[in-house]
Amino acid sequence: MRVINSPQKIQQYCLNLRRRGKTIAVVPTMGALHDGHVTLLHRARKKADVVILTIFVNPTQFGPKEDFKKYPRDHWGDLAKAKSAGTDIVFMPEVHEIYPPGYQTYVEVTKATQELCGASRPTHFKGVTTIVLKLLNLTQPHFAFFGLKDYQQYCVIKKMVEDLNLPIEVIGVPTVREADGLAMSSRNQYLDPQQRKNALCLYRGLQKVKEEIKGGNTSIQNLLQLLKKEIEPEVTQIDYITCMEADTIEPLKIYKPKNTLFALAVFVGKTRLIDNMVV
Ligand code: AMP
Repeated sequence: MRVINSPQKIQQYCLNLRRRGKTIAVVPTMGALHDGHVTLLHRARKKADVVILTIFVNPTQFGPKEDFKKYPRDHWGDLAKAKSAGTDIVFMPEVHEIYPPGYQTYVEVTKATQELCGASRPTHFKGVTTIVLKLLNLTQPHFAFFGLKDYQQYCVIKKMVEDLNLPIEVIGVPTVREADGLAMSSRNQYLDPQQRKNALCLYRGLQKVKEEIKGGNTSIQNLLQLLKKEIEPEVTQIDYITCMEADTIEPLKIYKPKNTLFALAVFVGKTRLIDNMVV
């Protein structure tokens, strides 16, 4: 496994791979790797000749009051996990190499970013699409893997790739969960044991909604009420608990089979957690 820090070097390296006819898969991450990230790497390993993991805690996707500075970083642990998942190249640049002095170019997806996390984190997706486009330009992949845990992010990136005619297949990977259902996240490390228990309400609530729908209750108003009732007592603050059309991320009033997204973001203590389900 090779570690490359320089943007120029990774781009030259990847252009060379393509000239030699190799297929490339990229897995963009912010590090502090867990089994969710490792699953993305395994999927990438099956799909392409060369697997590139990028690790970059991207400052432009954090708001001014968010956790950029204290976001977990685990350099050596990440390299060990990447290696055992069969990664060929780890690209981990410094902030000043990605955003050198005088940097001024950003890319924005305008509509799919309006609701959900886009509403409560107004600059977040502009940072996400900008860094992802830069990483795609640097790594020249045929395939890019993203987790469906960040469902809106997956949709926004898919839209950017489609709208900008990038010759890349974006592949979404189902959410990897702990044995008790909690969606894996680097931010779960912030939770103390009591908060870790409280955090289970997200999955429990979503499962209840799924059961209700199976039993024939498809009133979105009812289902959202039920979800809120499950979650409210366990969390410090609700950012949103809502229902959207899954493929467009636009508000939905009537249940659409297989295309209804239930999405939620809550604070447990100071930790912001998200989860979702498409039913
Ligand atoms: P992050 O490092 O949190 O920015 O995540 C990097 C990539 O891993 C994103 O595409 C995430 O959606 C994905 N990811 C994070 N957690 C999970 C999970 N529990 N299951 C599947 N994918 C995940």
